[in-house]
Amino acid sequence: MSFKALHLNKSIIKAIDEAGYTEPTLIQEKTIPFILEGKDVIASAQTGTGKTAAFALPILELLFNEQDAPKKGKKVRALIVSPTRELAVQIGKNFKLFSKYSNLRTTVIFGGTGIEPQIDVLKKGVDVVVATPGRLLDLHKQDVLNLDYIDILVLDEADLMLDMGFIDDVKKIERLCPETKQNLLFSATMPFKVEQLANSILKTPKRIEVTPTSSAANNVSQVLYYVPKRNKIELCLHLLRNTIKGKRILIFRRTKFGVDKLEKTLTNNGYLVERLHGDRTQSERQTALNTFKSAKVNILIATDVAARGIDINKLDAVINFDLPNIPETYVHRIGRTGRAGQFGHSYSLCSADEKSYVKNIQQLINVQIPVEDNHPYPLDPKAKPIVHKKKGSKYKKGRKGQGSKKKKKRWY
Ligand code: AMP
Repeated sequence: MSFKALHLNKSIIKAIDEAGYTEPTLIQEKTIPFILEGKDVIASAQTGTGKTAAFALPILELLFNEQDAPKKGKKVRALIVSPTRELAVQIGKNFKLFSKYSNLRTTVIFGGTGIEPQIDVLKKGVDVVVATPGRLLDLHKQDVLNLDYIDILVLDEADLMLDMGFIDDVKKIERLCPETKQNLLFSATMPFKVEQLANSILKTPKRIEVTPTSSAANNVSQVLYYVPKRNKIELCLHLLRNTIKGKRILIFRRTKFGVDKLEKTLTNNGYLVERLHGDRTQSERQTALNTFKSAKVNILIATDVAARGIDINKLDAVINFDLPNIPETYVHRIGRTGRAGQFGHSYSLCSADEKSYVKNIQQLINVQIPVEDNHPYPLDPKAKPIVHKKKGSKYKKGRKGQGSKKKKKRWY
């Protein structure tokens, strides 16, 4: 199938050609016609499937006819809500790329950075807004962002949005838009809570599914190393020195603290490393990503949430320094490599207390991950998980109050 067969106008086709896309991906082929028909859509698709263009292209096509409105009089007609800033920036880039030969304007708004420049752009008039929930509501409250003319609302990475606790914000945003709007929901996984959200928002939606999350990428070789927890750093260094020397590598850790600790060790060992997690400022995160993307460093260490949805091309390998406790996360992680017909590698380090995670992962992907025993830090098969005794009062604490819950720091 060609993009022309999808009935996109010439200016969009020209931009697609220039981007080097020769034919639509599966998700684009399935989704674009429904969106053009004005249908609500619920799509389960991961990053890497071309899902951003699957909604950006038809949205631009639908808005195209109205593009001659003078800039000042522009009303925001499409709103894309994204859980993370990086993802919002990436979606914004897609819209800007494909609307290059039209008068349609897109802006991206997110927290953690000055609000004034965002207000200025909104006042000048835009057609498409890509936003993270908090700043979006903030700007609406300040009367700078009018949602009364929204024709299309996109909730991207809905599962992550809910995991990050944005459910109330998302529902509020939806209520602030006109009831007649078209709704599109994209999610990498479809847990019950996403289905619930979809039921409360979407009107007789078309369902689209590509690459079920349980199928791990075929062109990624997977290896499992059993290793005592205390030796993980040494094994990681051993892999970097020998097995994957000089390659482009994304290392996943479960916590921000773990990311920082590993970064220090690798830097002390002479490696060029960047790190990505939720405690870094927006500009630090963007710089880290750009430095890795431009190949100034070859190792990026990240938490799942910070790295989710980010499009990084040409990764040679993924290291699961800590194994994820959610099996689907493993599939997402290793799917970061082996893209676009290339071959990728994944290395997972498993300590005694993570063995149950391996069991769940293997059940999900229906594959026994090959184990590599030939390494300097083998784990005694009889080793038991290390249980840290809790310090502090022997008396059970009461449930936490609302105030202390709010103060709780995010771990991702
Ligand atoms: P996404 O899933 O939206 O993050 O897209 C993943 C990558 O695929 C991005 O680098 C896109 O630029 C690229 N891409 C999207 N659609 C196509 C297409 N039809 N042909 C080739 N590359 C594409």
